[in-house]
Amino acid sequence: MKLVFASNNQNKIKEIQSLLPDTIQILSLEAIGCHEEIPETANTIEGNAILKANYVSEKYGYNCFADDTGLEVEALNGEPGVFSARYAGEQKDASDNMDKLLDNLKDKTNRKANFKTVICLNLNGEQYLFTGIINGKIITKKIGTNGFGYDPIFIADGYTKTFAELTLQEKSAISHRGLAVKQLVDFCSKL
Ligand code: IMP
Repeated sequence: MKLVFASNNQNKIKEIQSLLPDTIQILSLEAIGCHEEIPETANTIEGNAILKANYVSEKYGYNCFADDTGLEVEALNGEPGVFSARYAGEQKDASDNMDKLLDNLKDKTNRKANFKTVICLNLNGEQYLFTGIINGKIITKKIGTNGFGYDPIFIADGYTKTFAELTLQEKSAISHRGLAVKQLVDFCSKL
């Protein structure tokens, strides 16, 4: 079975392909000739995952899945959420995004936050959503150099190190994305 992943991120594609049974072949957007930017205009993480998967299924006629991720901060009513990548502007700079978040939280004692990944799978006319969430807190300064995005300021519950101090293996074992992908893989493995 061919399944399009609505992404051109080769790392994500390789990682998911390696977890799926050999009977499922993942195709990138490039592989199906989709070179345009897919709209991500929904105002929720779920909404954007659905929008991306539907775009590919409807326009290209493939079974498809798409993911969307965001950081939700309790004291900021769930912000930056769907705007996580461009929180501090369209330049999508991770350091600027963290600085803005730390500034917005500087007077807040509630530092609770969670990362959330939603994967939307469109398969043979049915739609399935898989959600992975990791709870934790935002610290007051950046620590660590691994990972990307908000990793240097996020500590998962039960941990003392930031995501940016964990190895990729340590982070993937507990992360929002890892949890959502595991559900997708479990589902696809039973097909
Ligand atoms: P995407 O939907 O995977 O492109 O993620 C959107 C944005 O959320 C990214 O640009 C990052 O700012 C943030 N983000 C997503 N996943 C992570 C993560 O694992 N660690 C830190 N930040 C993340």
